Order: sequence, then structure tokens, then C-alpha cells
Amino acid sequence: MRKFKFIAHLLVFITSVFFVPYLTAQTDVTGDSAETKFALAGGTLIDGSGAAPLENAILLIDDGIIVAVGQLGSLTIPSDYSVISTEGRTMMPGLWDMHVHLLYAGHTNFPYWHQNYTDQFTDTIMPATALQLLQAGVTSARDLGAPPESIFRIRQQIASNEIPGPTLYAAGPQLASPFPDWAQYYRRNISGTANARTETMALVELEADILKISGAEQLSIEDVRTVTDIAHAQGLLVTAHGRTDAEIEIGLAGNVDEFQHIGVASEEFPDTVMSLITEHIAAGNQLYWTPTVGIQLRAGTPQEDLELLDDPENFLGLPQVIIDDIKTALQSYRPRTTSADIVKHKISQLQEAGVTLLVGTDGGLSGNPHAQAMWLEMVTWVNVLGMDPMQTIYAATALPSQVMGVDDIVGTLSVGKLADVIVVHGNPLQNMSVLQDPEMVFKHGVRF
Ligand SMILES: [Zn+2]
Repeated sequence: MRKFKFIAHLLVFITSVFFVPYLTAQTDVTGDSAETKFALAGGTLIDGSGAAPLENAILLIDDGIIVAVGQLGSLTIPSDYSVISTEGRTMMPGLWDMHVHLLYAGHTNFPYWHQNYTDQFTDTIMPATALQLLQAGVTSARDLGAPPESIFRIRQQIASNEIPGPTLYAAGPQLASPFPDWAQYYRRNISGTANARTETMALVELEADILKISGAEQLSIEDVRTVTDIAHAQGLLVTAHGRTDAEIEIGLAGNVDEFQHIGVASEEFPDTVMSLITEHIAAGNQLYWTPTVGIQLRAGTPQEDLELLDDPENFLGLPQVIIDDIKTALQSYRPRTTSADIVKHKISQLQEAGVTLLVGTDGGLSGNPHAQAMWLEMVTWVNVLGMDPMQTIYAATALPSQVMGVDDIVGTLSVGKLADVIVVHGNPLQNMSVLQDPEMVFKHGVRF
């Protein structure tokens, strides 16, 4: 792998010298030097907004900010910029995964994992899973369920460049109905409005970026509304699990903003659910949905999928004893398989009603390693659900940045934005699986 990357770098060097000889700036083949001014030049640019791709494109980056976007021949690269050729490649915004769990690394037994590894989340496991996400081209991620003392610490460590990882938006613990003992680390009981108020205020104090409700069918509408009233007053969105019709109905009555997952207990959303959705949107509210279908619709078992067990990227940063433990658990793991027809039909119901879909993976869960979850999700959107590839990229770049209220600084490759950029071989509009192995990942202009 390392040798291959070296040769690839050499080719980049040769092609940049050969194809753009008129550029006088010194070519920087690694990009990870202290260079603050550099150009990514020659490849096709997909800016994330949904606009048509720009061929032979140039991105000028200065001190982590995109300062110009143009094309070879019309935009001149200043002489003090180093040049990285992206010839034959696609430049696009760093990806957003809107549903990850940094506390998990693919192990299949949650009670076991919590009992054995909770005390290693902050120092060992989350730094590793954050690294895995960044390596996969995910430069922004939303964590939807973790112990507050670990996830908010990791968020801060990433923000201050103490550890590498995607810019993290975190919910902290899930707000839930009473739960088994092993789930105490990442859930809080909000049964009863007094509990709901106390737990919600505690997360506001910790500066949670979003709130997540789990198991709303065991809660009252008043419990849910207590959470959403406090959150909305603070400008925070509230998302809820949407696996069952009952939790969707209570969630909508309680005024949540987004749902996670597509359940398959019912073959379609009943009229009761659909009319609540329609009313919610007609009242001027946005309704978002992160369907997390990659893990659900992926065929094959880990035993058949050699990469799951053998690809070292799936275990990057973890100590060998934990890697062995995860691999042992995965040996006997059988993924649940779901009817793609049901999921497709339910998603088309949501789209017809005006629901906005977001890309998120439930990364970290059983057999869904952070290093693979994102490209598998996006490939599933296109190849299984039949989604438009450009729309899929938009739902993993520009749109999530809007939903999280940071589209003024990230989400598209445009002037003034932070340079969160990935470079992939080939064209994701023709073959989304080129996202599997990004050749370059830049976060805030720094090459990972
Ligand atoms: Zn989840």
C-alpha cells in the first residue's frame, strides 16, 4: 500500500510536470509540508452544490481557506503556490456522515463492549474511530449517542488539533425511555417531563450540537415536546429514531426535526404517519430523514466479505488485543438482511411528501466499520435505491452543512470556505465506489 502510494505520488509529480509545465511554482508532491499556499489542479471538480462538474479545474487554497476556484487556462496559479496535480481525478468536498457512533468499532455485542471498553473510549477507541473516519474522506461527522464525558472531550481535542479526526458534531447521550443497565453510559431517562427537562438542560450546558431521542414509543408526547421546546429555543435540532410507526407518530406530535433509519416492520408508512408528515411540512417545518440504508441493504456475510476482516483500515489506530476481539466477534456475525423493495418504497413515500434525505451510516455498529460505512452508504443510495449520484453527493456535503448551520464555512468547494477536500480516482458520478479509497484527504487545508 505504502509503495503503491509512493508510486502514485511519483506519477502525480511526473504528470504535473508534463501536463502543466508552464506553472512556475515548485511542485509539492506530498502536500503535507508546511506549505500554506497550494493549488489542486487539473482534475474534475464537483463542488457539492449540485452544480455541473467543472473539468480541468483549479482550487487555490491559502492557509486552509479556498481563495479561488477556476479552470486551467483562465485562472492563473500564482507563482508562490505549490501545485498538486489532480489530473484524472475528481476533487470534491470532504464528506459528512450524519450518523456515526465513535464509541463503537464494529464489535457485535454491545453489552460486552460497554462492560469491557467504556473506560477506554476517550483515550483509545474514539481517537481510533475518528482517525478511521478521516482516512475514509469523512471530514465532518455527527455522533448520535455516546457518553458525554468522552464524546465532548474528543470533539474538543479534534477542534484544537490535538488528535486527527473529522469536525465533530455530537448529541452526547441519547434521551430515552428506561433502558437496560449496560446502556447507562450513552442513554438518559427522560420519562416524565421533569426528567426530560433536567436531562435536556444538562446537554444544553454541555453544548450538544443536536439532541437525539431513542425509543419515543415508550415516551409521552409531552416528554418529547419538553425536549424539542428547550432545544428549539436554543437553536438546536432534535432527531429521533424512526424505526416504528409508533415512534414516528409520537416524534412528529412532539415536533422533532429529523428521523433516523427506515424500519421494515410495516411494508409501507400508513396513512396516519404520512398525513402527520404532510401536516408537519405544510406548517412550514423542515423534516429531515437519515435512512442509514448501507448497513441494512448490504449483501454478504463478513466471512465472504474479506475486506471487512482483512482490511487493516477497518482497525486503524486500535490496539491489537481489541482488533482480535472484534475479529473474533465478527466471525460468527450474520447481518440482518432487509427487503430492498420495502426500503425503496418507504423512501419514495418520504420523498413524495417533501422529506429531505441526508446521508448517514450508523458507522461503528456491528459489521459496519467507520472506514467503509460512508462509501457503502453512498453506493447503496445510487445502486440499490436508484438515487441520482449528484443528489447523493449533495446529501453528503452541502446539505448536511446547511442542516447543521455551518454552510457559511464548509460543505461546498467555493471561495471563502474551509478547504475540506477529497480527491478520488475516477468519476463518482459514473461509479460511486471510487469513494472507497480517497487518494487525498484535506481537512482545513491540511493533508491527512
Ligand atoms: Zn445509531
